[in-house]
Amino acid sequence: MRALRTVVCLALGLAGCAGYPEGSLLDGVRPGADCRINVMAVFAHPDDESFYTGGTLIKLGKDPRVRLHVLCLTNGNMDEAKDNLGITREMLGRMRVKELESAAMVLGASTAACMGYDDQGLAGADGAELSARVEDAVRKAGADVIITHDPYGLSGHEDHIVCSRVATAAFSETDAQRLYYVTMSPARYRFNLLFALSDSPAEKSVPTVRVNIRAEKTMKRLALYAHVTQHHFSFWNALAMREDLLFDYEHFALAGARDGVK
Ligand SMILES: [Zn+2]
Repeated sequence: MRALRTVVCLALGLAGCAGYPEGSLLDGVRPGADCRINVMAVFAHPDDESFYTGGTLIKLGKDPRVRLHVLCLTNGNMDEAKDNLGITREMLGRMRVKELESAAMVLGASTAACMGYDDQGLAGADGAELSARVEDAVRKAGADVIITHDPYGLSGHEDHIVCSRVATAAFSETDAQRLYYVTMSPARYRFNLLFALSDSPAEKSVPTVRVNIRAEKTMKRLALYAHVTQHHFSFWNALAMREDLLFDYEHFALAGARDGVK
C-alpha cells in the first residue's frame, strides 16, 4: 500500500519538492523564563486542528520545551453527520467537543477548549465579544506561537475566515512572537483540482515553510480517527482524511513576527 502511494505521489509530482524551506514553527522563537514555549492552535471546527496541522502539532507536542494548547471556536454542530446519524444539532455538538478532547490527547496538547459557538455561525456572532474571548484565551495561555486559518479560509469556509481574523487580531494585541497561517502546497492544490476534491478559492496564502511530518503520520491518523463522527459518517470528510495522509509535509505562511519580550 505504501509503495502504491509513493508511486501515485511521484507520478503526480507531489513528493514535496516545494520552493520554500523545510523548517520548524519554533525557528527564532525565544522560550519564556520557565524555558517553555507556548504554542496555540486556534481553529474554527473540531477536526481542523488534526486535518491541517495534526502532524505539526504532534511534532511540537513531543518537544519538551513546548506547551501545546488547542482552541476551537465552534462545536461543529451543523455538520452533515447529524443527518446521517439521525441526531440533533445539540447532540452532535456535544459529541464533537468530546472528539476534540480525544484528538487533543493524541496531539499531546496540555489544554483543549471549545468556545461552543454554532457551526456556520461565527459571522453572525458578536464580533467584539468573540475577539475579546479569543484574545483572553491567547493571553491566559501565554501563547508565543499562534497557528490559525489563513484569511481566505483555505477552503473558503466563512467560519475559517472569521477565525483567521480574530486570531490575527489577538496576535496584534498580545506578546505572541509568531503568527502562522495554515496553507497548502502548490502540489496539494493541483491534487485537489485534479480530483475535484476542493473548490479552493483562487486567492490563497503563499506558504513560507513546510514541516516534515513523515514520522508523525501514524499518530496524525489516530488524531483524525478521534473525530469519529467525521470519519465514519461524513463521506467527504472521510475521503479527505485518507487523502490527507498521502502527504509528508504540512505547509504554513509566516504572517507575523516580533521579538520575544520575556
Ligand atoms: Zn473547518
